[in-house]
Amino acid sequence: MELLQVENVEVVYNDVVLVLKGLSLAAEEGKITALLGANGAGKSTTLKAISGLLESEDGEVTDGAVVYDGTPINKWAPEKVVREGIFQVMEGRRIFEDLTVEENLRCGAYTRPRGEYAAGVERVYEYFPRLKERRKQVAGYMSGGEQQMLAIGRALMAKPRLLLLDEPSLGLAPLLVEEIFGIVRRINAEEGVTVLLVEQNARAALGIAEMAYIMENGRIVMDGKSEDLLNNPDVQEFYLGMG
Ligand code: ATP
Repeated sequence: MELLQVENVEVVYNDVVLVLKGLSLAAEEGKITALLGANGAGKSTTLKAISGLLESEDGEVTDGAVVYDGTPINKWAPEKVVREGIFQVMEGRRIFEDLTVEENLRCGAYTRPRGEYAAGVERVYEYFPRLKERRKQVAGYMSGGEQQMLAIGRALMAKPRLLLLDEPSLGLAPLLVEEIFGIVRRINAEEGVTVLLVEQNARAALGIAEMAYIMENGRIVMDGKSEDLLNNPDVQEFYLGMG
């Protein structure tokens, strides 16, 4: 079943700049779907159109529909989106730098009953033992990789049904990317959470996603099973640097 459908969505910033030009994609329940493309293609904008965060940037969905579990959600406020189970991990790991690791995690659970906090934190520490070691540390002093782990861990605290990840590999060394993507795959398998993963690192993303879409200039230009895209000569040349 498709948990998320983006149908012919058009997005405009500041009433004039057309950034998404009829974009369609779907994310199947329980699977990892990747959205790939170069800088500026409109990947982050796509996630914000889903999570309701466009408005705060003077962006607007001017056409098309975002359908979640059969319901159009274009008009939902960001708080409602989170409450209904969609959580976006923003690009650049927007954690609370002055708070400790554990305080950050608690912030992620603001839509959940307080009674769930302790079990939620322990669950996050199982996926990210490094966060447990650093639980009393102020988040702003941690490494980039640890901050990315914290951003994902905080999202888990909200018990999302659909997790939107915006470039989790950004600025991280290859080994760390591998580690974090491995954990994302485990989270997907063990929690049953559906993941929509936005990435410029096509190779890493295709390694964990079942399906992938490639976008250019506000539109999807190619899509298919990850293994087929990995074997596609155009994808190899333009996105995997094998040309
Ligand atoms: P990146 O990897 O650099 O984040 P992206 O594929 O996620 O790239 P977007 O961030 O969605 O791309 O940006 C797509 C286009 O929309 C770019 O041309 C960008 O300049 C423009 N854009 C993004 N945010 C805004 C905004 N708040 N106001 C006006 N234009 C914007």
